[in-house]
Order: sequence, then C-alpha cells, then structure tokens
Amino acid sequence: MKLLEEKIRKEGIVKEGNVLKVDAFLNHQMDVELFHEMGQEWKRLFEGRKINKILTIEASGIGIACVAAGVFHVPVVFAKKTASINLDGEMFTSKVESFTKKKVFDIIVSKKFLGPDDHILIIDDFLANGCAVMGLIDLINESGATLEGVGIAIEKGFQQGGKLIRDRGIQLESLAIVESMNADTGEIIFR
Ligand code: 5GP
Repeated sequence: MKLLEEKIRKEGIVKEGNVLKVDAFLNHQMDVELFHEMGQEWKRLFEGRKINKILTIEASGIGIACVAAGVFHVPVVFAKKTASINLDGEMFTSKVESFTKKKVFDIIVSKKFLGPDDHILIIDDFLANGCAVMGLIDLINESGATLEGVGIAIEKGFQQGGKLIRDRGIQLESLAIVESMNADTGEIIFR
C-alpha cells in the first residue's frame, strides 16, 4: 500500500536490533485517517470472506483493529497480556514472546467472546517472528472458531513470521513489507 510505505519512509525511524519505530503515526500518535485507508484496503483484500469478528493483541494492535472493525462493521476483541493468570476455566490462554521486550507473556481471551460460531480476522501492527500471531491462532484453535485471515500493517520480510503463516496456507495480507532496513543510513527498502 503506497500511502503506508510513503508514511514509513517519511516518518519511520530505523533502530538497532531490527526495530522500526513508527510512533509518529502508528503506535503512539495515531493517524486515524491512514488507519481508515488501511481498513478499507483489508476490506478489499478479504472480500468474500465471512468475517464476524476481529481479534488483536494489546496494546499497539488495538487502534488499527478498532478502525478496521468500523470498516468491516464487526466487533473487536483484544487478547490481554498478563504476567500471571488465574486459570479459572473461563479463559482461552496461550503464550507469546515479545519481540520488542524479549519477555514471555500469557495472553488471554474470555470464553464469552470467542467460540465455534466465530469467523476471525486477526489484525496487528507488526509481523516480525510471528509469535504474537501464532499465539492468537492458538486461542482461535482452542475456541473452535475459524481463522479467515491475518491482516498486518508492517511485515518485516527479513524475519520468519510471514513464511511461518503463509506456509500454513493462511491468507496473510501485509500492507507494507520491509525487505531490508539499515540503522546506520536510515534506508528502508520495500518488497
Ligand atoms: P512477533 O511476535 O511477530 O515477533 O512481533 C510482533 C509484535 O512485536 C507486534 O505486535 C509489535 O507490537 C512488536 N514489534 C515487532 N517488531 C517491531 C518493530 O520493528 N517495531 C515496533 N514498533 N514493534 C514491533
């Protein structure tokens, strides 16, 4: 998606450790009009899919997922991250290793909000090694819901997440795929 690529080129900052900072428009200050365009693009790309719910993970996926949900006219559920879980049988749970924080979190979704009748589109801001998306897929599988696809704003194509998901036959639509980036020069090349 050209608009998103241009925004990343203009306002993204390449950090050491393969981290792309997009605080100016995506996960601190948020460009809601851009999110709306992204939502419309996913709507086009997932045309024909019977989606009745969007699933994301806190915190930075929530803004994008909410705006996309407005375009799809469906509710959003976000998986909560928690350090310790009270396993009372009311929650679906999985584990996610955070790429940016290098910590393992339990993620939970209440059984009230995910079940066999649901057809889910996963939305998240970044795809790196795929841990966050895989954790969400675990929750979907536990619940008996159907995964319809995965929509990502920025995929870092030089990390393994994209291959992991596509190899499972899942429809993955990343709106910008970074082929390479250089923390010294700030250069970002898109696929
Ligand atoms: P994964 O689980 O695919 O390794 O990483 C995805 C999660 O890590 C995303 O939800 C996102 O919050 C965070 N993340 C991964 N790479 C980056 C990055 O380069 N920049 C930012 N801002 N977040 C990232």
